[in-house]
Amino acid sequence: MIHVVHHPDYVTPAPARSTYRWNKNGLIRDLLLDKGDAVAWHRAETTPTAWLEAVHDEDYVAEVLRADVPKEKERRIGFPVTAAVASRAAIVPHGTWLAACLALEHGFAANTAGGSHHALANTGAGFCVFNDLAVAAARLIDERRVARVLVVDCDVHQGDGTAALLAGRSEIATYSIHAEKNFPVRKARSTVDVPLPDKVGDEVYLATLESTLVPLLDEFRPELILYQAGVDPFDGDRLGRLALTLDGLVQRERLVADLAIGRGLPLASTVGGGYGEDALAIAERHVAAIMTLGETFAAAGDAGRRVGALNAR
Ligand SMILES: [Zn+2]
Repeated sequence: MIHVVHHPDYVTPAPARSTYRWNKNGLIRDLLLDKGDAVAWHRAETTPTAWLEAVHDEDYVAEVLRADVPKEKERRIGFPVTAAVASRAAIVPHGTWLAACLALEHGFAANTAGGSHHALANTGAGFCVFNDLAVAAARLIDERRVARVLVVDCDVHQGDGTAALLAGRSEIATYSIHAEKNFPVRKARSTVDVPLPDKVGDEVYLATLESTLVPLLDEFRPELILYQAGVDPFDGDRLGRLALTLDGLVQRERLVADLAIGRGLPLASTVGGGYGEDALAIAERHVAAIMTLGETFAAAGDAGRRVGALNAR
């Protein structure tokens, strides 16, 4: 049974003047519905404003919730923040937090949205409005559900917003492996950054991921991983610069899950980047990531379940 967090408002009609593929989340939901009993569904709620304000500026939170974001910030985000977009943005961070709580209980859980890693304190950016990873990580620490959280970001773009928002919090570490020449031009400083040259393929990517993530896991000893499983390192991605195959992406999820399971670590995943003309193909890549992570935890059997049982509080 794979625990999946969703909300009907994740599927939002595209605002006018938007080039972002808004139907991705609906397709992800439909593909997961096809899995039948393999998926246990959970519903996200609107994120309490105080949780958002724990990492974002009050003024920016208010601008979004009123759907009254200044034009220059909307340009930076990449689409207008309509009432529907604002309502969605207010739900997604709770979904990532809920996935983390479910992971503490069951070992693994996934949010079908989120991974909004470019959002900063006073503005959104790069198709991100609120930073669900930062909001959830900060909240989990504030609630003392865990003592240390590691955000692992494998999106092809650097997790600059997450790094900036969580800098200086000793209970939270950030890891980003990304294409160096890609957006954002000005990178932030994560706890560990792994910039890759263009066109890196499966073998080098997986070896580099393992050799850089393992020392951080061993040194920081997180009690939970929040995993941004962007699928834009795929060779055919419109905004990626790397060259992973579909099999390489699946191997990446297996590696990340195995590293977590081997250390008794619960893991909650979000989606993330994935760009191109064929929205269904992109949704399939996200669903393959969720299913691979979930199945790897399930296949670990007792070890996977022990991750949940150990952390259930
Ligand atoms: Zn991306």
